[in-house]
Amino acid sequence: MAVVGAGAFGGWTALHLLERGARVTLLDAWGPGNSRASSGGETRIMRGAYGPDQPYTEIAARALKLWARYERRWKRRFLHRIGVLWMAHSNNDTFERGSIKSLRQTGIKFQELSARELKKRWPQVSFEGIDWGIYEPECGYLEARSSCLAVVEAFVAAGGMYKQFAVMPDGLDGAGIAHARLGGLVLSDGSRLKADCYVFACGPWLGKLFPETIGDLVQATKQDIFFFGTPAGDPRFNDTHLPVWGDHREHFFYGIPGSDRRGFKVADDTRGPAFDPTSGERVVSLDTLRGVREYLAFRFPALKDAPLIETRVCQYEQTPDEHFIVDRHPRMENVWLLGGGSGHGFKHGPALGEMMAESILKEREPPGIWRLARFLTARKS
Ligand SMILES: Cc1cc2nc3c(=O)[nH]c(=O)nc-3n(C[C@H](O)[C@H](O)[C@H](O)COP(=O)(O)OP(=O)(O)OC[C@H]3O[C@@H](n4cnc5c(N)ncnc54)[C@H](O)[C@@H]3O)c2cc1C
Repeated sequence: MAVVGAGAFGGWTALHLLERGARVTLLDAWGPGNSRASSGGETRIMRGAYGPDQPYTEIAARALKLWARYERRWKRRFLHRIGVLWMAHSNNDTFERGSIKSLRQTGIKFQELSARELKKRWPQVSFEGIDWGIYEPECGYLEARSSCLAVVEAFVAAGGMYKQFAVMPDGLDGAGIAHARLGGLVLSDGSRLKADCYVFACGPWLGKLFPETIGDLVQATKQDIFFFGTPAGDPRFNDTHLPVWGDHREHFFYGIPGSDRRGFKVADDTRGPAFDPTSGERVVSLDTLRGVREYLAFRFPALKDAPLIETRVCQYEQTPDEHFIVDRHPRMENVWLLGGGSGHGFKHGPALGEMMAESILKEREPPGIWRLARFLTARKS
């Protein structure tokens, strides 16, 4: 089997396939968690809360178990269980209210906290406009780049073949062919790779490799991330004193408290402009910075004048409905397409990889919510 893309989706899929007895070659153009990839950078949020009527809390529950299993196996820590706090406004708390049922059903631990409890517990936060909150004590943040690398290292140690080459896109999409099989891949060094089954987990590049089948169903949007410097010797904004937090205001803001002396991470989750993941210059927008600063001063008053100490530009690989894409290629039965993380895919990597491996090896169909057929009507109209 060949898996193209060693990010959170492809790396875990390759490892699960290998663990189930398959012979697997994993390919990546620039390496696991590279700075252009959506899985790049230091941290990602691990949460169970997802709002009402969605499949993600259940996969997050499975992923939580798998992250813990691999942490034990590899004697490493990727999930920093510092908790996740959702700040709820009673006139706009559909997300938080809607999350409770699935958190309960899946057994992900959570507490509902009153405004009084919030203020008492985290006095360094101004809870103005916040009426209550949800706290997920066993969630927190994941190490992004380093866990992607660890997955590939484990994959290689277990006998998998990893090659750092790009797969050339020409002719991949099987345009005009009905029910064919993909015969092989052409790599950037001119060599060829043949497999019986191919998984393409190419993040924001998926539409470039499959312009007809995926095209703009996966759009890369520019997302700016800011790290602010906290006062010297003041631990109130470190991961020892503050959980990961999310705040649904007019925009959804979220943040991860400082770790590894990196600064206080804050981002506005609003989808940014279109961005080219290969050639895009990763420079943040001053307008976005202004908005984030205003928010910071309002919610974390002690950080009002905190200096910006680092920035990052990543991209979401966004589908129109923010649901993933997990499906066979419509014209090539031995090709699977996996992607569309839409700003929330990382945490699910181990569980999604497991599901993908089971689907391929046991010929199971993935859930309808992730299949390409859901876009057909929209595309025709
Ligand atoms: C700023 C930001 C914040 C986020 N926050 C969160 C969060 O808090 N929690 C969460 O769960 N998720 C979050 N996400 C989303 C999550 O990180 C992504 O959904 C996930 O990492 C996508 O993984 P992937 O493997 O699909 O894509 P990628 O990580 O992009 O991997 C695709 C890989 O394919 C390779 N590739 C591409 N083309 C080729 C080719 N032709 N040949 C060979 N290799 C190729 C690339 O080099 C790349 O390594 C966030 C994303 C961003 C950008």
